[in-house]
Amino acid sequence: MSLDTPFRSCTDTPVLKERGQREVFCGLTGIIWLHRKMQDAFFLVVGSRTCAHLLQAAAGVMIFAEPRFGTAILEEKDLAGLADANAELDREVARLLSRRPDIRQLFLVGSCPSEVIKIDLARAAERLDGVHAPNVRVLNFSGSGIETTFTEGEDACLASMVPALPATDATELLVVGALPDVVEDQMLSLLAAMGAGPVRTLPARRSTDLPAVGPNTRFILVQPFLGATHAALIKRGATPISAPFPFGEEGSTLWFHAVAEALGLDRAKVDAVLAAPRARAQKSVAAVAETLRGKSIFFFPDSQLEIPLARFLARECGMVPVEVGTPYLHRELMAPELALLPHGPTISEGQDVELQLDRARAARADLTVCGLGLANPLEAEGLTTKWAIELVFTPVHFYEQAADLAGLFARPIRRRALLTPEAAE
Ligand code: SF4
Repeated sequence: MSLDTPFRSCTDTPVLKERGQREVFCGLTGIIWLHRKMQDAFFLVVGSRTCAHLLQAAAGVMIFAEPRFGTAILEEKDLAGLADANAELDREVARLLSRRPDIRQLFLVGSCPSEVIKIDLARAAERLDGVHAPNVRVLNFSGSGIETTFTEGEDACLASMVPALPATDATELLVVGALPDVVEDQMLSLLAAMGAGPVRTLPARRSTDLPAVGPNTRFILVQPFLGATHAALIKRGATPISAPFPFGEEGSTLWFHAVAEALGLDRAKVDAVLAAPRARAQKSVAAVAETLRGKSIFFFPDSQLEIPLARFLARECGMVPVEVGTPYLHRELMAPELALLPHGPTISEGQDVELQLDRARAARADLTVCGLGLANPLEAEGLTTKWAIELVFTPVHFYEQAADLAGLFARPIRRRALLTPEAAE
């Protein structure tokens, strides 16, 4: 390549759209990280024993304190329409709230069974809100596997909160998307040093800190899977700030620069604030990139993080994406990412799992990112895999986590090289 070769991005890459069988978690999974974040909320899944098992299994060993989620189990008599599911739900909620006065926000979460038997949870939430407000806000969203993939649960949850947020005319920055507290604190301290205050977050850690929203609210997403929340905030009059997502040094810097530009902050001051964390991230990512450089990667669609992560891995770690699958491609949110992702990979949206498995087997990428269900069979065929769900459960945003993010991809490659030294050649 000569030095003056113009950069060619994926902006105009045709998208391979597939609508077949999917192998992904449902939106209930989002409750695992949301219940940790929102400390006075409770998530009541209206579902089956399968839903309860999924939550317990995904939550692993976390239940040391009073849990902030549970399942109202629909029994056979409910499914057969022999019981008044609404009356039972009202009783369950009354019992829960009398036992747990710490709950300030209650989410009724729909599932496949509640959708199949058509329990109207929106109406139930309205009715229960009338009974339990102002002490407890009752909202609803769907985490059903019929409608949602796993990160869409967070989107549905946050979108359900937006219409209930108070109104304001204040000029405020709103950062949208659940981050681990330690990562959120790093981000807030950089924004404060840049002079971006006042800054609010959605979700907030406690319901008393919920943001207000209005025509002078500027908002920016930290997660790429928040399309419905993005639309709901625009409907409330707020203005979005478009940016790449804060993964890696470059993504984080462009994200902060977009905020600075939207708020008219002094660029020299912003760059001075960002200089040290940028340098740290560049150095730490470069060390991990040694393992990743020149290695090919294939993404199955799982979390909607795939395009931003492929951009980070290609540009900062020297990896070569072969296929980048995403459950949904939100053109507006992904435009800044596609403009940075170097031309070359197939971009696919949705899934037809057998066809995609054929492509993954043909590509035999150095690393295949996929769901738990596909990882074991592919490993047995000699492919190196990474579980997509780890990318959502691990702190990976902004500068201080950039090397950890790269490390998540480097570890399985190193492990494979140790097990089969010829694979490292
Ligand atoms: S919501 Fe549907 S896909 Fe998710 S655990 Fe319940 S039954 Fe399974």
